Amino acid sequence: MIATNTIDLHIHTTASDGTLSPAQVVRTAHELGLEAIAITDHDTVSGFGEAAAEGAELGLEVVPGLELSSRYGRIIHILGYYVRTESPILGRVLESIVGERDERNRKIAALMAADGLAADYGEMKRRFGPVIGRPHFGQLLVEQGQAESVPQAFARWLDKGQRYYLPRKMPSIERAVECIREAGGVPVLAHPYQYGLEEPALRQLIEHCMDHGLLGLECRYSSYSEEQSQALLSLAREYGLAPTGGSDFHGDSKPNIAIGSGEGSLAVPASWLPPLRNLAISTKKRR
Ligand code: AMP
Ligand code: ZN
Ligand code: FE
Ligand code: FE
Repeated sequence: MIATNTIDLHIHTTASDGTLSPAQVVRTAHELGLEAIAITDHDTVSGFGEAAAEGAELGLEVVPGLELSSRYGRIIHILGYYVRTESPILGRVLESIVGERDERNRKIAALMAADGLAADYGEMKRRFGPVIGRPHFGQLLVEQGQAESVPQAFARWLDKGQRYYLPRKMPSIERAVECIREAGGVPVLAHPYQYGLEEPALRQLIEHCMDHGLLGLECRYSSYSEEQSQALLSLAREYGLAPTGGSDFHGDSKPNIAIGSGEGSLAVPASWLPPLRNLAISTKKRR
């Protein structure tokens, strides 16, 4: 059971590569007693409407968000909260990212088809759309007996260096942070310890993002210890960044992660939400 007064600001749905629909996610969060959640699908805000409607029904606050993959030597994820989901600027950026995904994905589908596996991209779009990612290929591989789980499909087939891995083009980190600001949102550096950076390089990354408008740091995350979370919190304080946190729930694609996840180390306090909301309000006023 989840402590009261907690929230989860990092959740994927079927709008990208999660396996629960936006409404199912909201119902689950409500049953767990969470106060608020954010929907942070990869490269789309298309799940928000359904989630917000279900949230209104149940009295659960749903924050509009997204997670952009961006380039900064390596791949860095930037979360965006309280974006205007109708923003034409954001719409154009997302359209181009999804176009690049489709281009890469068609090539992966062709590689699999050439090996005799069923992977028709048109059908995948209909079944899994609008944003198709490698976990969907993982699901096809599981269904066709090539792996026992999506994580195993990654290890065998889809991770960098494996047979069905292909890179995709993505926006620069500057562009990712800026377009979230342009859409009235609050950009946040996601899971800072997932990039294999030592502290000096991590600080450089944070400072670089701040030069382009970064406003928050994800300080709590399913896989982070209390100690790691404390270290991130002190970085956030030092830089004047808003702390955020969430599970990175994906449903069956990442079966070990639950909504609102874990004890202690990932109880994201509801008190972190108002500062984030206020930042969004003041960002929007400045534009
Ligand atoms: P893509 O952006 O389509 O190249 O796919 C990357 C996404 O796959 C990440 O954002 C994760 O959500 C997911 N992913 C990466 N590694 C794994 C893994 N080992 N198991 C399950 N999902 C993964
Ligand atoms: Zn994902
Ligand atoms: Fe991520
Ligand atoms: Fe994520």
